Amino acid sequence: MKSCQIWGGLSADRTDEQYPTVTVCDECAEANQGHEDSAITHILGGYDAAYGEECHFCDKTEEEEREEA
Ligand SMILES: [Zn+2]
Repeated sequence: MKSCQIWGGLSADRTDEQYPTVTVCDECAEANQGHEDSAITHILGGYDAAYGEECHFCDKTEEEEREEA
């Protein structure tokens, strides 16, 4: 799991709404960065429950990811 900054509502007034920070699983982080139309602007660091306990894209939890590994 990672904490990632994603493209949010660019019409929002606040920066944290324009580029919200969310939790993303490793698989989705891999799939959603490095392309021109990627949803992720950049990866901030490791998992932080403060940004959500499930993957923003596929709803996988930290626990589920650990069980897969
Ligand atoms: Zn995911």
